Amino acid sequence: MSNLPNCPTCNSAYTYEAGSLLVCPECAHEWSSSSPSTQEVARVWKDANGNILQDGDSVTVIKDLKVKGASSMLKGGTKVKNIRLIDGDHDIDCKIDGFGAMQLKSEFVRKA
Ligand SMILES: [Zn+2]
Repeated sequence: MSNLPNCPTCNSAYTYEAGSLLVCPECAHEWSSSSPSTQEVARVWKDANGNILQDGDSVTVIKDLKVKGASSMLKGGTKVKNIRLIDGDHDIDCKIDGFGAMQLKSEFVRKA
């Protein structure tokens, strides 16, 4: 027999698969069969050109960026060493001479 789960609504064992859904013939309940054991796809960070970035990479800022709390702009062309990839809107954690620790968006850098 199949190892499909019972219907979560009526607990029927006669469930069957219909595409990506599971269907219960007894109460007509349909639900997603995506298994909890499915591995999450690892996030990939890409620079402005679509190159994959990794922790420890060096990148170049491709445009002038305003820096919160800093009096000067971060100039396009600035080299940033030893980046750290993080989750979030600003997805690169780094230290830049003259600015200190800050966060950048991967779409505004190019792999050096
Ligand atoms: Zn059911």
